[in-house]
Parts: sequence; C-alpha cells; structure tokens
Amino acid sequence: MRLTPLEPWIAKKTGRAGTGECGPESGERDSHDPPRTTHDALRPSLASYQFARLKATVELARARSRYYRERLAKAPEIETLDDLQRLPFTTAEDVRADPLAFVCVSQDEIARVVTLDSSGTTGTPKRLYFTKADQELTIDFFGVGMSTFTGPGDRVLILLPGETPGSVGDLLAKGLERIGAVPIKHGPVRDPAAARALAVREAATVMVGVPTHLLRLVRTMSPGEPVPPVHSVLLSTDHVPQAIVHAIESAWGCTVYNHYGMTETGLGGGVDCEARRGYHLREADLLYEVIDPATGLPSAPGEPGEVVFTTLTREGMPLIRYRTGDYGHWIETPCPCGTRLRTLSHITTRLSGPVDLGSGLWLTQPDLDEAIFAVDGVLNFATEVARIEAGPHVSVAIQTTPTANPDTVRAEALNALRALPPLTAAPRLSLDLQCSTEPVSPPTLAKRSIKLA
Ligand SMILES: [Zn+2]
Repeated sequence: MRLTPLEPWIAKKTGRAGTGECGPESGERDSHDPPRTTHDALRPSLASYQFARLKATVELARARSRYYRERLAKAPEIETLDDLQRLPFTTAEDVRADPLAFVCVSQDEIARVVTLDSSGTTGTPKRLYFTKADQELTIDFFGVGMSTFTGPGDRVLILLPGETPGSVGDLLAKGLERIGAVPIKHGPVRDPAAARALAVREAATVMVGVPTHLLRLVRTMSPGEPVPPVHSVLLSTDHVPQAIVHAIESAWGCTVYNHYGMTETGLGGGVDCEARRGYHLREADLLYEVIDPATGLPSAPGEPGEVVFTTLTREGMPLIRYRTGDYGHWIETPCPCGTRLRTLSHITTRLSGPVDLGSGLWLTQPDLDEAIFAVDGVLNFATEVARIEAGPHVSVAIQTTPTANPDTVRAEALNALRALPPLTAAPRLSLDLQCSTEPVSPPTLAKRSIKLA
C-alpha cells in the first residue's frame, strides 16, 4: 500500500524531508525495515512547527481581528502546544454574527468571499474571506490530496461548482493541473445522461462529486450504455454512505475515496489514503482536535466527539478552535499506509443531526442512508419527523429511477427501515413511505439531514 502523499508534503512544509526522500540514516537500516528514520521524526517536528504557527496565528488574530482582539484579551500566552486548550472556542454563530470582525487583512487583499446559506434561525448568511495566499494553500492541498489516486495524464471530471474563480471546482482544477492531470469542469449533476456522455467522450478516468450525484450517474445508466473508463471517484461535500460507495464501485469497477472539508477549513480538510479507513489531514495548515461537546475537554483516545480546528496558515480570516458540529474520533491504530500522520474517522453524523423518537435510541441520517440507498432503484430520499400526540410520525419520500418498479422499491425500503433499531424500538411509531420519480430536494450542495416538522 502506498504511503499517503500528504506525509512527504507535510514533512516538507514543516522543514523535514519526507519518507520518500529518506535521510542519510536510511542506508544503515536493515533492508527489510520500512524507512522509519525521518518518518519517526515527523511527529516531533510537526508539533514544533504547529506550536510556532499557532503562536503566530494567535498573535495575528489578536493584532488584526476585531473579534479576536476582544475574545483573546484575557487568554493566556501560548507557551506550549497544549495551551491551545486554554483558548476559547469559535462557533459558526460567532462568524455569522459579524464575519468582517474576523478579517485580518485590508479589503483589497481579499480575493474571494464565500457566502453560505443560513441554516440557523437568524437568517443571516455566514461569510468567509480568503486572500490569494489562502487560496494558494488550498490549490496545493487539492493537487497533493488528489495524487493519492490521480497521476499525470489522468482526466478528471469535476462535478462540483467551478465557474467562479476561487470556487471549489476552480481551485481543484488548478491543483490537478499542477500534478499533470487534465481537469474537465462540469459542475453539479443536473442531467445524468449528459454528464455520463461527457465522461465517455472525454474518457474521464477520475470523477469528483457529491455522493447522491454520483449515485444518480450509476443508477440511471441504460443496459448496454458505454461505461466511462473511471478508476477512482472522490466523494465530497456530505457524509458518504457505504451503500453509495458499494453501488458506485460495483457498477463501474472503480475505487471510491472520501474527502473531508468545508468552506471554513479553506474547502479542503483531509482525504483518504489507499487504506480508506479515515482521513489524513492537512496537519501543516490545520490543527484538529476532537472534544467532548459537553465539557469542551479533549475526548478520550478513540472516543467520539466534536471536530474542532484551528487554522495555522490562514491570513485573511484565521479561525481559532472553530467548532465544526461534526462528530468524529481519532483512529489510534497505525494506518496500513505506514504514515505517522493522524487518522480522523470518516464523519457521518452532525451533532445537531440525530432525532429522538422517544425510545432512547436516536435516529440518524447515516442509519437511514445505509438502509435506503442499499435498495436498488433509489436515487435520493428525504425524511421528515413529526412528534404528534399519538406518537412519532416518520415520513420518507423516495425518488426512484424512471425504470424502477415503485412497489418493489417501497417494499424493500420498508423492510430495511423496519430493521432499524431506532425505528423498531420507537413506541407508537407511524411510518409513511412514498416513492416517485420526482426530485425530493432542490439540486443544492447542502448536507442532507432529517427534517423536523
Ligand atoms: Zn493512511
């Protein structure tokens, strides 16, 4: 198994040669030993690099950002990396309340402003500001991250928005060009037949897109239709159900990888290695923590908690201990790829996501995804939960392929749902399931979640 390309990249950024370019000690090793020498030095050298960058970030934020000048006024000086834990958290609400208060550069140094739709009740959109240098770091990460499964000459169909300069698809295309791959910008999938035809015509070998969009590409194929020569698919923007991974891999004989990131992390955050058991992270640009959301203290090793990150190299709008609302855990066992980088578990759940149906067991979007996407003929679905006096009412609207038999899909989906413990255990539950070929949600990139009526 190939070492994640993130390791030599991060080693270089932190002032160490990577494992690929092993130091002078390498000749002294037993030839059967993996090249561990500079490799073992990665963690201590990364820690001292992160400490220096954390100190610089806190100084920058204190000096230039209105928000942090006030917020960090009484915060202790950073004398060790562990002092990070003594700094206050930043929340999405803080950013939403006054995004400009976070900005550390003059307006004319801002190259890109991203406005995110409001998911809160205030109706105020969240805004994130990036400089050219901030975007440069993302382009660099995208190129290196993609090189996990993309090489020179690969033709990469980008099924993410890419028309605006600085958009995710645009930065990804630039990163791909740097590793000698050929980006093909398409945008989110609206017409699956047209997207597939383009993939075949352009001989796309790699695709990057939203899980449900890729599922639509594979499940709406007609028998005998030419299959694009895809060897790898990267799924991003939302959690990745195993049922979707399985559907794509078995239809196209390719390998599916996960990416983790959000606008706040600078779009890129971390990516699977060939082991595909969790993300290796941009540890030179982002300092991640997993905390107990109730106490704010670090989660015990291997215990799930809220993912929090601090930017280490961001100049436009640094974020310190930003609470993502995502639920994950550190995977403590060494990665089979051999890296000394940390591994964060795949993010499946948001802290605000699970719904209590009164049984003590919480219903989650990932539970529903694994059950329903496993049914052939399903393209997407939306779930709404109402708590009425008679008991919880769960309604699921499924969008099927035009050729699927709605009765068969409905029966199989019902069986799958009835096997879910949070539904089985819920007292006085009523379940309503509809199937049609109508889209169940507008074609946005928003994360899918259970809606509360
Ligand atoms: Zn790995």
